[in-house]
Amino acid sequence: MVKYHIDTIPVWDAYHQEDQCPLCVLEYKCEKEYVDFFLSGSVMEPSTRIEVNKTGFCGNHFKLLYNEKNRLGLALITHTHFKETIENLEKLSKDLGAKKDDNLVSKLGSFLPKRMSGPDTALDNLLSWLDKHHNSCMICDRLDNLLDRYAYTILHLWQKDKEFIKTISSSKGFCLHHLALIMRIASETLSTKTFDEWCNFIMPMQLEALKELEGDLEWFTKKFDYRNKDKPWGNSRDALPKTIQKLSGTYMEPPAIDHEKKD
Ligand SMILES: [Zn+2]
Ligand SMILES: [Zn+2]
Repeated sequence: MVKYHIDTIPVWDAYHQEDQCPLCVLEYKCEKEYVDFFLSGSVMEPSTRIEVNKTGFCGNHFKLLYNEKNRLGLALITHTHFKETIENLEKLSKDLGAKKDDNLVSKLGSFLPKRMSGPDTALDNLLSWLDKHHNSCMICDRLDNLLDRYAYTILHLWQKDKEFIKTISSSKGFCLHHLALIMRIASETLSTKTFDEWCNFIMPMQLEALKELEGDLEWFTKKFDYRNKDKPWGNSRDALPKTIQKLSGTYMEPPAIDHEKKD
């Protein structure tokens, strides 16, 4: 069984934001911190540098890094990563392409579409490397590890802390993206009995929160009817961005979060 380090203070802070999903809050906050980190001097440390050269960033995180406007810092780490990427591609490309072969069958085969003329390890290696390259990201990796740990901490607090049970009971559950995360961590770390208790605890409140938001979104659409023009908005004014977050785990209107480093 995986053992995670417990880190309760950030979890409590996230719950105090009273957001649609505490894990979205934590992810958003930590993502900002990682972006700052990779543009700071700390990235020049050899071990980090080696990792950046090897792994790089996904499109989403390159964009966040780029938007920070530290163009020289980003260009420096991107350049060494780029050089290493080209070297790797060069190695893989050596085995690609037609070999000299006088065999009649392979001559005939060469007129068939590539995929019909048999397996090609060099091509498979290239494609799997390109695929891995496209999906690999140091910020995503670090965020994934951290969020696993926070999900574990939420489950830990839910089991051990009466005050936390009150807090989580009055929360809005999770977005669907992070619901998947916490259910996975729960299934990996809780006993069958405790897992069942967790399901019976979380699912009713999760569904209730979703239905409440669905009602708010419906009222938002009805407010466009002139007959409802003067009726109160209730909680529906920002129901659309909240629903998008709930469905996808992506903020349309990010929370105001204090990014001061707390130790
Ligand atoms: Zn979330
Ligand atoms: Zn990423």
